[in-house]
Amino acid sequence: MQAASLDRLFRPKSIAVVGASRRKGSLGWQILHNLILFEFQGKLFPVNPGADVIHSMKCYPSVSAIDDVVDLAILVVPSKFVIAAARECGEKGVGGLVVISAGFNEIGGDGVAREKELLAVVQEYGMRMVGPNCMGILNTAPDVRMDAVFAERLPLHGNVAFLSQSGAIGAALIEHAASLGLGFSQFASIGNKADISGNDLIEYWGRDPGTDLILMYLESFGNPRNFTKLARRVTREKPMLVVKAGRTALGARAASSHTGALAGADVAVDALLDQCGVQRVNSVEELFDVARAFANQPIPRGRRVGIVTNAGGPGILAADALVARGLELPETRPELRAELAAILPEEATLTNPVDLIGSATTGHYRAAIEALAKTGDYDALIVICVPTVMHDPTDVYLAAADAAEQAGLPCLGVFMGADDVRERARERTGRERFPAYHFPESAVGALGMMVEYAERRSRVPGKVIEFEDDSDLAKRLIADVRASGRTELDLDESRRLLACYGVPFARSGVARDADAAAQLAGEIAGPVVLKAMGAGLSHKSDLGGVLVGLDGEEGVREGYRELEDRMASVPNARLEGVLVQEMVTDAREVIIGMSHDPAFGPLLMFGLGGIYVEVLKDVAFRVLPFTDRDAHEMVRSVRALPILEGVRGNAPVCFEKLEEVLLRVAQLVRDFPEIAELDINPLMASPDPTRCLAVDARVRLSAL
Ligand code: ADP
Ligand code: MG
Repeated sequence: MQAASLDRLFRPKSIAVVGASRRKGSLGWQILHNLILFEFQGKLFPVNPGADVIHSMKCYPSVSAIDDVVDLAILVVPSKFVIAAARECGEKGVGGLVVISAGFNEIGGDGVAREKELLAVVQEYGMRMVGPNCMGILNTAPDVRMDAVFAERLPLHGNVAFLSQSGAIGAALIEHAASLGLGFSQFASIGNKADISGNDLIEYWGRDPGTDLILMYLESFGNPRNFTKLARRVTREKPMLVVKAGRTALGARAASSHTGALAGADVAVDALLDQCGVQRVNSVEELFDVARAFANQPIPRGRRVGIVTNAGGPGILAADALVARGLELPETRPELRAELAAILPEEATLTNPVDLIGSATTGHYRAAIEALAKTGDYDALIVICVPTVMHDPTDVYLAAADAAEQAGLPCLGVFMGADDVRERARERTGRERFPAYHFPESAVGALGMMVEYAERRSRVPGKVIEFEDDSDLAKRLIADVRASGRTELDLDESRRLLACYGVPFARSGVARDADAAAQLAGEIAGPVVLKAMGAGLSHKSDLGGVLVGLDGEEGVREGYRELEDRMASVPNARLEGVLVQEMVTDAREVIIGMSHDPAFGPLLMFGLGGIYVEVLKDVAFRVLPFTDRDAHEMVRSVRALPILEGVRGNAPVCFEKLEEVLLRVAQLVRDFPEIAELDINPLMASPDPTRCLAVDARVRLSAL
């Protein structure tokens, strides 16, 4: 897609407003009104066959009547006129359309056909289109100044691009952002995304020098694979923050595996965003809190934070929130303490958080912040001020802004009860300084996201590892299962399939009678496990179908007969054989699994395994492409990490081996999209890489 083709939409030299209106408050009035008020730098052409003049401007009866080049046409006519208007624009050589009009896909029925026809016209003439059913677009660049959004408040100029899938939320947020001092570079409400998608805009803004940060309000992902590719690239240069609404169910998915049962809600979205470096926030409020910090503060170099406050309580709240987010509060060094003691009252606290106490003056703030900043011990500052008669909070704010800027440190403010301090400072110095929040937690939350961004960006990007595999054998195995009319692989077939991709399995064999079982056990030498196999026996231990720690020939024979007895009483089940398996001891059980997400494809899972996996729900998810870095992070992202690292004298399990198995499974499910679900539960994780062995596996194929 050519950037130039989007330029005619976002950097037009002339705009026709088709459906401009004299009626105050109508859409056609408001759009033209905003374009004029925001001082659009190009030419404006109101179009309406029923008026000669609108807003003191000559009004044209049609687009074709305009005796000049038109780059962009904004359509605010009723839906039944949209297609004719679009065709006229095409004939005129218009480069881009913004279709505000509703009445398309979103209404179903006739609307769907109408949208299809509209898109065909747009493509026929080589135009590009935002919408239909959108709230407009915005570019605040000084040489453009296009406010073609149906919102009452004018936007501030800034470096933040914002994409909204919801028109109403977009317009409301532009107004809210202005009151927070957050300025936009560009904005688009993409409506039904008939032509221009979110991905197109991410690509466009990724290359826009006026955009340093990309915000998104999303309800769905059009093309997750393109999104991943784009976002991985863009986030290396610019942060991307997203609010993803609609925690939709993943559709009707037969969840016969643990992985399927656990992959509820929108874990795929979380996984995908996480893997491509896009940071997800939970609310629109948080989105703006975080954006305000990114918009005008440098990215912190590390996670060490210094706090300066004039009140104990908020200082402690900030410190608690910092620690909870994994940020650090390095203690003040003796030299710094001596320096602070010389300038601060005797009662001040000289440790971090530095408490200047209630008598703090602007001078105290300035001196303390400068002293902290120059130590080099802190990567970011949080300045907390509860206004008192001892100072003007705006003076404190500006002193902090100057000191932090001098030191090149990011600074976030908490000005409790001083709502207008940032705005006053802006009035005095003519520019936006640092964000000021009402509460410490908001400041810490924003700082935490910045630190996270910095750390992600500095990491080496991962790569997909290619292992040697026997995909031909795997193909034959799958074909055999299909040929027998099944979609479920039995335990032994699952084991053999995984073996084609080098997944290590405990030594096992299938016995059809007690003698064969005894013989297999003899070959394995040492204690064995017997597992009932057969139709209706997929959750073996629930049915008493797993016998562990059997020793000696007689014990194994007895075990076999015991399983025969037990399985005979299970309704709708038939014992078809018994897996005789070596006993794996001294291991911690983990689960490695995969289930399919209808939109995102294979979804890998890792977590603490065993029979309680669905109770503990301590699992992590990732999507493909799955890199070595993803594997590295995935095995370390579960709550049970300390158990894997070893507690009470246990040695750490071999993480590298776990990562390798995950990568091998990722390769298998990538090569065979017909694998609908896969569970390895448990994989015995051991400190010894040669003893990290799968002991149970289930594979289900998609229905044909
Ligand atoms: P299912 O999941 O169908 O109940 P599994 O084969 O996973 O059956 O076995 C259940 C449990 O038995 C495992 O979680 C594990 O604790 C234990 N177990 C199974 N196989 C072995 C083995 N080879 N070595 C040691 N323990 C095992
Ligand atoms: Mg199991």
